[in-house]
Parts: sequence; structure tokens; C-alpha cells
Amino acid sequence: MTSEILTIKGVSKRFGGLRALDDVNLNVRQGSVHAIIGPNGAGKSTLLNCLVGRIIPDEGSVTFDGGSLLGHKPHQINQAGIARVFQTPEIFGELSVLENVMIPAFAKRDGAFRINAWRRARERGAVREEAEHILEDLNLSDQRDQIVNSMSRGDKRRLELAMCLVQHPKLLLLDEPTAGMSRADTNNTVDLLKKIAERGITKVIIEHDMHVVFSLAETVSVMAQGTVIAEGSPEEIKASAKVQEAYLGG
Ligand code: ADP
Ligand code: MG
Repeated sequence: MTSEILTIKGVSKRFGGLRALDDVNLNVRQGSVHAIIGPNGAGKSTLLNCLVGRIIPDEGSVTFDGGSLLGHKPHQINQAGIARVFQTPEIFGELSVLENVMIPAFAKRDGAFRINAWRRARERGAVREEAEHILEDLNLSDQRDQIVNSMSRGDKRRLELAMCLVQHPKLLLLDEPTAGMSRADTNNTVDLLKKIAERGITKVIIEHDMHVVFSLAETVSVMAQGTVIAEGSPEEIKASAKVQEAYLGG
């Protein structure tokens, strides 16, 4: 029996007259890597926004790890174990790499209202150690003290990944993690994502680069015009006439 960590049922969202999401159904198996592909404007980012509480669907349900996600605030969803890499990196440009990684680690530990000075002081050492360990994993140790604004785009994306991993999420959502990267950076990112896969974190990845999709994902869902038009293994998706049509503007 396979268990599902995420169940999306009948999710719809309108923006004015536009049906950005139209009855989306999608199940993600515990421990799997699930890719969502589809042309620009298909609703992929909107769907992820529904999962993290940034957008509230008009209809439908989202169940994560046995509980409903709808009606919860983004920080509560984050506390429940969902971390996300955004399409555009959301990082603190004026701070160092290490500081950036320590922030989400503290946020996760503090919870909503348990921030107090003595606890912070006691945990500081442990948080720092963990942040350094993760930077090592992502080959960012050399840039530990660098101010983030001066980093390359690829390095910023890796930093963002580190900021997610330090939270020990159960589910990691990645919105085009290789967007704007060189081929070399893309390959590095694929290797890193494979390494993370070994830790058993479930991943949902939105990706344009088919090389990345087919080398990482076990299941691929194809979205077009706000709905899932096909789902299957990478091999099945590659062979699907319906998918070809959606991409070639049929
Ligand atoms: P994708 O990530 O697949 O490229 P999006 O989810 O970003 O697609 O967008 C789906 C559709 O919804 C697009 O037509 C987009 O212009 C529209 N859209 C997305 N967010 C908003 C918003 N906040 N307000 C109005 N329209 C939006
Ligand atoms: Mg998008």
C-alpha cells in the first residue's frame, strides 16, 4: 500500500474572469519526487501558492499529512512541515549566507510565541552548527560569510534550498529551481536534489527543463489551462500525444 502525504481535491481558483485553477486533483506519495510541468500560465505557481496558504482556493480541499491545510496561515503551514523554494528567490540580500540559513532554523524552533532570550542563547550554538553542516552539503561553505547580494543567481538558488532544508520539512515545494541557471549550475542542482532525495523528503517540483524532470521525478503531472491533463511516469508522459499537443499549442 502506498501512503499519500498530500491530497489535492477539486481545487479551483478564479482571478476575476480567469479560471487560473479549474478542478485540480493531484495526489503525492510519501517520499516521492513529483513533477508538475505545463506551459506558461497553466496555473502551476498558483497551485503551489494554494499549498502554502498564500492563495485561498475558491473550492476544493487540500490534505497534508492527515490534516486539512485550508484556512491555515503560511507560517502555520510551514510549521506543519512544508517548505518552499520560490520562482524568484526570497532571501535577505544584506545578510551573509550563514545568517540567511540560521534565520529559518530559528523561526522553526521558536514556533509562534515561544521566543525568549535564554532559549535563543542556548540554541544559538546548535543552530549555527546545523546551518554550517547544511552549507557544507550544498557546497556553499566557502561562501559562508559572503553578503548574499553579491552572489551569482545559481548560488542564491542553492542558498534558498539550504534555507528550506534547515527546517527539516516533510514536503519540499520547488518552483522552477533551475530557472535562469547555466547548464553547469542546472546539473549541480540536479545532483543536489538527488542527494536530498536520499534523505526521504517528499518533493513537488515545477520545472521547465525536461532533462531535470526526467532525471528526478517518479511521477509527472501535466497542467494546462488550470487543470491536470495527464499524469504518469516520465516514460508515459514523454510518449503522450495529449502532452505533445499541449506543449505545441494544439
Ligand atoms: P504558471 O506558474 O503555470 O506559469 P501561474 O499559476 O503563475 O502559471 O498563472 C496562472 C494564470 O493565473 C495566469 O494566466 C496568470 O496570469 C494568472 N494569475 C496568477 N496569479 C494571479 C494573480 N495574483 N492575480 C491575477 N491573475 C493571476
Ligand atoms: Mg509559475
